[in-house]
Amino acid sequence: MRLLTKSRYRLACECPAKLNYTGNNAYLNQNVDDDFLQALAEGGFQVGALAQCYYPGGVLVETLDRAEALRQTDALLQRENVIIYEAAFQFGNLFIRADIIRKVGRALDLIEVKSKSFDPDEDTFFKRNGEPLANWNITLQDLAFQRYVIGGSKSEMAIRSYLMLVDKSKINVVDGLNQYFLLTRKEDGRPQVLMPVPIPPEAISNRILTEFEMSGAVDALIATIYGGKTFAQRVDEWAGAYASGKRVDPKIGSVCKQCEFRANADERATGLRSGFHECWSAATGLTEEDLDQPLTLDIWNLRKPKEDLLQQGKYLIRQVPISAIPDSAKEPTSGWSQAERQRLQIEAVHAGQNSPTVDVGGLRAALSKWKYPLHFIDFETTRAAIPFHRGMEPYGQIAFQFSHHLVHADGRMAHQGEWISLQRGEFPSFAFVRALKAELSSDGGTILRYATHEKSVLNAIKEQLQDSTESDRVELSGWISSILTGDDHGQGEGRMIDLREILLRHYYHPRAGGSNSLKAIFPAVLSTSRYLRDRYTQPIYGTSEFPSRNFRKQAWVRLDASGKVVDPYTLLPPLADDIPEGVERLFDDDAIAEGGAAMMAYAKAQFTQMRDEEAAALRAGLLRYCELDTLAMVMLWEEWRRC
Ligand code: SF4
Repeated sequence: MRLLTKSRYRLACECPAKLNYTGNNAYLNQNVDDDFLQALAEGGFQVGALAQCYYPGGVLVETLDRAEALRQTDALLQRENVIIYEAAFQFGNLFIRADIIRKVGRALDLIEVKSKSFDPDEDTFFKRNGEPLANWNITLQDLAFQRYVIGGSKSEMAIRSYLMLVDKSKINVVDGLNQYFLLTRKEDGRPQVLMPVPIPPEAISNRILTEFEMSGAVDALIATIYGGKTFAQRVDEWAGAYASGKRVDPKIGSVCKQCEFRANADERATGLRSGFHECWSAATGLTEEDLDQPLTLDIWNLRKPKEDLLQQGKYLIRQVPISAIPDSAKEPTSGWSQAERQRLQIEAVHAGQNSPTVDVGGLRAALSKWKYPLHFIDFETTRAAIPFHRGMEPYGQIAFQFSHHLVHADGRMAHQGEWISLQRGEFPSFAFVRALKAELSSDGGTILRYATHEKSVLNAIKEQLQDSTESDRVELSGWISSILTGDDHGQGEGRMIDLREILLRHYYHPRAGGSNSLKAIFPAVLSTSRYLRDRYTQPIYGTSEFPSRNFRKQAWVRLDASGKVVDPYTLLPPLADDIPEGVERLFDDDAIAEGGAAMMAYAKAQFTQMRDEEAAALRAGLLRYCELDTLAMVMLWEEWRRC
């Protein structure tokens, strides 16, 4: 029987129509494994294990067999006082596993452990009217659902509900705390945390996880009326639909933009179904092929007007008149406003345009402010819930890698430098910034990044330095200030400029649609630039003409059978190429082709017992990936200077 679990309840809270597709392998689900990978990257498994350390002597209900888990939980609850990890409860066709249950007599505390952070000195869970804030709503609904299931199945108990969260106001007092928790897989493939040695008592007495009682908020959510239905009626309706496979009518809108059940034409051609297309076809009468055209949903950064257009039945960009885009309230000092850029996107669809639109004067003026040599940089970073060192707060910034391309005024260019640290248990950020300073301090050339990430990371490291005892903390934080001062467009004293800001104001490429990420822009530019195609069809990368640290004689432009440029990120060699045959792999990723995967790779190096060969393959994969990021920026500049 298909039971409504807490993860399916959370999905239904996002959009009830997701119940039509979840758990059905016929549909593409972009989030499959996402929870696992997210937990791995952020340290979610370790947070769960640390929380259990706060409640020693608990009994783990380990079995995955539902009936057996319920039987074991019932038997444990016969005890007067007991702590249970992963207790099972069923109420009708609702089923949950609770992170931690603390039973004292007839009082039962439900403790949901989350790796989300909360700072009690600065943050809040609720709006002024008492409703949960959007970023806490699903978490609190999840807790309310668990409370409802336990209350229904154990009505004799007095239940209190708690969230246990990573407390950003706390400071870790134990060196190497996150290294006490190692991640591995059980024989059945499930992840498990190993603790070869117990954590020190100070980590228990100085907690970085805090329990927040939510009994009142949870009761209020259970008493709320949702579109004319009680909490119980809504849960029954969703559970009934999920159990019977009865279709939930979709209510399409802006929420669909992030839908994980959206499959493109290529993915559907492999036989996978697209829940998104089925919802939108049912709601609009358009065919799946119609829905492969540019959608109103995908107009860049259009908020309220987008919902209005959908309400008016304008689902495709070709149905949207240019006049539908209101002027932006705040105009930029140069180049296009947000509204002008949105109109360019619509105009390009109306005209069937494939080539870029360029504000030539504005672009040339922006580029003319740069000083040679040009430094193109990209960072790989992460944040770990459980800190590395004493004195650090949870979720501190960790910068573990950079890549650096250098371009001289006479046209010489090279992959000039790189730095990476995957050393287990070593906090890398200060060594990272020392290495970066050494790379960038030999001249006053402009430093180019793509988007705001590198700036935020440097600001975060500056704060960490100021709180540290590093002997060169004043020198390093002063250097960070010196390159960041000034705005992102080359005004003021700072050396650092954001290429994405320049792109937003002066360059629009229709093949990237409404996306301005480098991963979308890079293949789009390659597909229409004759210059780049001619130059990089040749295997010049990794030669004396264009030296590289990780590639030899690489041709970056390849065409597929239909003559389309292949996305260069798909040309990165699989990690398996670097692992000798016969070495057992702990994880199965084939490549590192986006920043999220780089974070996972770092987490694997830190928290898993990986063999040296696999660790070396990860390192090589990360170096190639980050080098391609800065190379993509160089190619974008090569195209722009020809405009
Ligand atoms: S496409 Fe929209 S309505 Fe359909 S499941 Fe996704 S979010 Fe819900």
